[in-house]
Parts: sequence; C-alpha cells; structure tokens
Amino acid sequence: MAYNNDMNNEEIWRAVLGELEVSLTRANFITWFKDTFVSSFENQRIIICVPNGFVKKWLEEKYHKVILHSLEKISKQKISEIIYKIELQKNNALVGSTIIKPKQDEVTINSKGFEKVEPIAKYGLNPRYLFENFVVGKSNELAHAACRAVVNDLGKAYNPLFIYGGVGLGKTHLLQAIGNEAAKFTNKILYTTSEKFTNNYIQAVQTGKAKDFKNAYRNVDVLLIDDVQFMGGKDGTQEEFFHTFNELQQGDKQIVMTSDRPPKSIPAIEKRLISRFESGMVADVGKPDMETKIAILERRSTEKNFSLDKDVLIYIANNVQNNIRELEGALNKIIVIHQLNNSVPTLKSVKNALSDYVSDIKAKSMNAKDVIEAVAQFYEITIKEIIGSSRKKELVKPRQIAIYLIREELGSSYPNIGAEVGGRDHTTAMHAYNKILTEIKENDNEKMKQEIISIKQTLNNHPY
Ligand code: ADP
Ligand code: MG
Repeated sequence: MAYNNDMNNEEIWRAVLGELEVSLTRANFITWFKDTFVSSFENQRIIICVPNGFVKKWLEEKYHKVILHSLEKISKQKISEIIYKIELQKNNALVGSTIIKPKQDEVTINSKGFEKVEPIAKYGLNPRYLFENFVVGKSNELAHAACRAVVNDLGKAYNPLFIYGGVGLGKTHLLQAIGNEAAKFTNKILYTTSEKFTNNYIQAVQTGKAKDFKNAYRNVDVLLIDDVQFMGGKDGTQEEFFHTFNELQQGDKQIVMTSDRPPKSIPAIEKRLISRFESGMVADVGKPDMETKIAILERRSTEKNFSLDKDVLIYIANNVQNNIRELEGALNKIIVIHQLNNSVPTLKSVKNALSDYVSDIKAKSMNAKDVIEAVAQFYEITIKEIIGSSRKKELVKPRQIAIYLIREELGSSYPNIGAEVGGRDHTTAMHAYNKILTEIKENDNEKMKQEIISIKQTLNNHPY
C-alpha cells in the first residue's frame, strides 16, 4: 500500500470528514458529504465516490482544495489526482448513516383518491417570487442551486428538500419560486404554511372531512410547506403530515419545506419526522454579505425606477445587517420619503431617513455579547468569569472558545475582540483564536469540535 499503513480508505475518509465537519455548517456538510466514500486510493491517486452529478460538480468546484489539503495531511503523502465519481454504495456511507428510508408498511397508499381530486387552482403562490428576481450570493447559493436542481427534476433530484435559515433571508421566496417555475409543467402544486396545514387538518377532523383533507394533500405533484418549525408540539398534525409525506415521497412527488432552524433543532418534533426531513437534501440560507446586499438594493431600486449612488447603497448595506426583508424595508422608506419631498437622495438625506431604523436594527443584531453569553451558558459559568482575569483552566478554555467564535461568527477584528472580552490586548485575542484553531484542526480534538458545534447551533437558533 502506498499510503499511511495504519489507516485504510474508510478510516482516512472518516478523518477527512471529521475535519470538514467543523469547518462547514451542518447543512452544507450533510448535503455535500452524505453518501460519499473512497473507492480506491493507489499511487497517490484517489477516487471519491459521490451520489450524483450535482454533488460531484460542487465538490470539484468548491471543496476540492480543502479536500485535497485534508487528505494530504491525514494520509501523510502528496496526492497527485482526485477523481470524483458518481457511484452509490449501499449501507456504507459514513455520513447520515442514521437516515431511515420509509418502510413500506408505514405508508398508507391511497391510489383511488388520486384521480378524483381537483387540482388546487391558484396554488397559493405569490407571482412576485421568482428565480429571475432572486439575487444569488455566497449566503444563499447552496439553497438556490438546490431549488433549481429540484425544479429541473421534480421528485427525483432531492426529495425532500429542506431549506432553513433565519427570518427574512429568502426562504419563502425560494420556496415559491419553485412553485411558480413548476407551474409551467404541472397544475398540481400546493403551497401552504405548516400553520395552515394544522388548522385545515383540525377543521377537517372536526367536520368529518378528514378524508377530503388527505386526498387534497396527497394528490399533488409538488407540496411546498413553509415554516415547518410550527409543527413542533402538535402531535396529531405531525402524525398526519408523516403519512402525507411518506405517500408523496414514495410516489416521487416533490416535497419542499422551509424552517427557521435545522430539522434536529425543531423542538418537540418526532424523531421519525426529523429523519424524513433529513432524508433528501438540507440547505441553509445565511445572512447576505455586502455584495449581495448591494446587488439586491440595486435591483430593487431599478425595479422601482429609483436611482441611488454607490456610496448611498454602501451605507444602507452596511447599516442594515440582519436580513433582506429589513433591507427592503429600509429602501422603501428611503423611496417614500424622497418621493414625498420630491428630493434627490444624498448620503446625508438617506442617513437622516434611516436614523431611527438603523439604531433599532443595531440593537437587535447578534453581537459579541450574545456569543459570550452562549459560551457561558454552555459551560455553566458566568459572563463575568469569561471576561474576568482568572487563569483557572476551566475558565481559560471557554474564554478562548468565545474569542474563537466571535472571530468566526462575527468576523470581528482582534483589537475589537480583545476589547469585548474583558479589555484584553489584541495579541491575546489572536493567540486564543489560534490556540483553538490548532486544537480542532491539527490536534483533532473531537470533544472540543463537538462543543463548538453545539454552541454554534444555539447561536444560530436565536432570531437575531
Ligand atoms: P423568509 O421566508 O426567509 O423569512 P422571505 O423569502 O419572505 O424570507 O424574504 C424576505 C424578502 O426579501 C422578500 O421580499 C424577498 O423577495 C426578499 N429576498 C430575500 N432574499 C432575496 C434575494 N436573494 N434576492 C432578492 N430578494 C430577496
Ligand atoms: Mg418565510
């Protein structure tokens, strides 16, 4: 064997996945690395098997460098070539091995109902939500690509598709864009929110129309369910949705869901539903970066025949941090004010127009204090202890992790981090950051990786 004799292909790949897992969001990790494995590794040439062309392309284009780097490090040798090959291997995937496919006997198939039910007329879609006017950037490219892939091959590419992310980041827009696009091929589309699903279901049961309800939801080609997190704690609804889900999935009917958090983090939701939600593809949308925000502002203002200078766009993008809905709200406000006064927008007038808005938003966004608080909670210590000066081991580690996370999650500068964490010097912040990085990247500290993932999850679950 040409490589590190102590490890076989599977062990090497497992170690690589372990490294990647900490550096990616869970959604990205599951999406791109679920069902991957190494089929051969000889003469510095490695074949990585992936489940489909979409993943292949993505790994080649986006993850090749990190995979190569990690492989070389773990196998302790130079690698001359990585080949990504489409190949499925049963029961041998390293990621997502807990995913359960629906069992035949759990599904109620109701073939008779299929013919009779009327297609749902308007599908509940807003015609404004289209792929054409969705601006793609780093924060949403994964979800966008997944939605496109789904429409191109309904029921087959990824089923279900589960999109999650904070409020106002474009989940409903994408979900409905799928519906509007799919409407070109089929009229059996249903868009609904999980709240409506719940209410309709309860009403149907009360009025003895449960059967009609079942038929309506099960006789669609595309089921789009928005905000599934609201199903948490509603047992009857979950039961009903479980069966609807199975029947659609078995019939290769497309299901797309959105949620404000990943499946596992939805409170009071049945395990079997979580495993269903994760059984296709999970994609996240994050907060937009500057470029995306500016592109969205430019596009929206053009749509409204309103023109803004670059410095004004930058000011708005810089000050509206949280989400795209707020970005649009800020823009609308600027347009209305300037149209009312019949004035040309300048940086000064825009600052003025947004003054309340900006201070409001600033108060709401996630900051270093939120990170410190989450770390303190996780390690069951106080905020004072984290920012304090004690060198006790059980305080130093959380402190360093807080610094690491502030840097990773907020991108703050070292001097700023130092100031936030008890007025420390920037070199202390830098040292702490590097210490944690080494610990998880080079020393492969599994426990610490897990802890960081958990803290990140609690942070992401906050509606900042
Ligand atoms: P969510 O469902 O995640 O809360 P929405 O889909 O309702 O968010 O998006 C909020 C607003 O922002 C909508 O008006 C939507 O059209 C707009 N929006 C979100 N993302 C984008 C994007 N990438 N490009 C253009 N508009 C967007
Ligand atoms: Mg929404």
